[in-house]
Amino acid sequence: MAGLTQRRDRDDLAKPPKADYICAMANNPLAEFIDRHARLFVLTGAGCSTNSGIPDYRDSHGNWKRTQPVNFAAFMAEERTRQRYWARSLIGWRRFGQAVPNDAHHALAKLETNGRCEMLLTQNVDRLHQSAGHRQVIDLHGRLDLVRCMGCGAKIQRQEFQRALSEANAAWLAHDAADAPDGDADLEGHDFSSFQVPACEECGAILKPDVVFFGENVPRDIVATAQDHLAQADAMLVVGSSLMVYSGFRFVQAAAQKGIPIAAVNLGRTRADDLLSLKVEDRCEAALAFLL
Ligand SMILES: [Zn+2]
Repeated sequence: MAGLTQRRDRDDLAKPPKADYICAMANNPLAEFIDRHARLFVLTGAGCSTNSGIPDYRDSHGNWKRTQPVNFAAFMAEERTRQRYWARSLIGWRRFGQAVPNDAHHALAKLETNGRCEMLLTQNVDRLHQSAGHRQVIDLHGRLDLVRCMGCGAKIQRQEFQRALSEANAAWLAHDAADAPDGDADLEGHDFSSFQVPACEECGAILKPDVVFFGENVPRDIVATAQDHLAQADAMLVVGSSLMVYSGFRFVQAAAQKGIPIAAVNLGRTRADDLLSLKVEDRCEAALAFLL
């Protein structure tokens, strides 16, 4: 009996238990949920990036905090909408482009490193999951670090376009404004009609950030790829999203229809509260800290 105990002790020394993780599990339903499921399909939203200094769109009731973001049809149809969008973006990008991942991104990257993440689908356009080292990521709503020509499809770096915007609108650089979501800034009370919006150097067509605007559809192949990964998963984890936008909510609906259990971390209510097996009302980085 003593020998058995000694051998077990030696094994314990050879393989020290992850004490923090085990302690957390004892009274942490989220840790238990993650431990029970080996292949998580993770869906993240704005709440994941707020601690990186990027504001979110909605309050704890899921209502808009500010005026609704730019609409796709208006952006394509109206020069004045494009002038207003890019003037605000010129100011907003200065800080947005400098944002770095926070502990929520790092915790989810660790989950992947530990082999527990089937796929991470993000509604964010800030690329902070990738900056944190996460490899398997689908950018559901595109990426703000690229600009796409709506005529020839050419793509340029947003940083490069920032230089073109700055050179064409030097007087606007003196402005500052509070940050708004998605690299936007609350720049109001200005006459935007003098703002110069550079066109595509290749074909002269309209340039648009390579993100999905409101009123625009997510490309079908991206939805299909994400659905395939969801079908491979044995649970779904929502992090920092109220799921008010249908493009994200439909994956929760699909998981519920397949009988895949769903957990969510979000401050405030979500559109899927009645579909959840577990709800954690906390800041993302705090709720996921046990993974670090
Ligand atoms: Zn072009």
